[in-house]
Amino acid sequence: METVKIIIAGPRGRMGREAVNLVTNTEQFELVAVLDHKYDGIMLSDIEGFHSVSNVPVYTEIEKCLQETDADVLIDLTTPEAGPYHAKTALNHGVRPVVGTTGFTKEQLLELDEICKEKELGCIIAPNFAIGAVLMMKFSQMAAKYFQDIEIIEMHHDKKLDAPSGTAVKTAEMIAAVRETKIQGHPNEKETIQGARGADFDGMHIHSVRLPGLIAHQQVMFGSDGQTITIRHDSYNRASFMSGVKVAVETVMKQNTFVYGLENILD
Ligand code: NAP
Repeated sequence: METVKIIIAGPRGRMGREAVNLVTNTEQFELVAVLDHKYDGIMLSDIEGFHSVSNVPVYTEIEKCLQETDADVLIDLTTPEAGPYHAKTALNHGVRPVVGTTGFTKEQLLELDEICKEKELGCIIAPNFAIGAVLMMKFSQMAAKYFQDIEIIEMHHDKKLDAPSGTAVKTAEMIAAVRETKIQGHPNEKETIQGARGADFDGMHIHSVRLPGLIAHQQVMFGSDGQTITIRHDSYNRASFMSGVKVAVETVMKQNTFVYGLENILD
């Protein structure tokens, strides 16, 4: 495999730092630039925590970064505001996005799909890069064929900006693809405090917990007469996401389509 030249957007973030580690420690990957929104005209080694990373320029302008850098892939780990613009701009410059940033709207995903078709380029967006989380979603989809009553409880650290999590939405979408729509709970149920029953997705409920100390956790509870099943996944650190990022970078170089969800590229 030829060396894959990579730009990372959001390198100072919790995920971005892990991604810098992954890219600089993987033989066939090369970090060619990073995109920040605070520091411009410096080298990554000038930023606290990156003193040992040499020869990587920092840009604040994505257009300038893409014009001046010979890159194959943009890994985006930023915010729901910046991520969609970064992915779109990268594709327009012939660079393949691998996006971990969550909070993309359906319209933004459709637009990226269209650009991929037009440019014949690959793009992978994965709300959860942890391979265990992908299995949790797949097992939940299997269980949903037999158990229609489902509550999704996602639990994250209190710095998370979007709710419900991208993983919870993706899980609900995968379940909705095999489950007949059912409005759950009592037909006359009434919330005495708004939000008590969580968000409604096709009659299922999604509950978002935010607490310091947590990283990324989700349990999907299924209920039926006299029995329940709980399928749970826990990420205890952000390194848990990096094997999925590596697979996504390798895969995006081989395909020319838009992919939403790591489950679609794992065998
Ligand atoms: P974080 O620690 O807040 O990092 C985000 C970084 O992006 C920060 O350094 C921030 O800088 C920077 N940033 C913000 N706007 C930017 C822009 N326009 N250009 C360049 N950099 C910009 O968040 P995190 O925990 O690393 O998470 C990042 C994203 O990944 C979130 O959307 C999160 O939900 C998602 N996530 C995905 C997975 C997955 O497996 N797919 C797992 C965990 C998290 P400042 O701090 O200076 O604003």
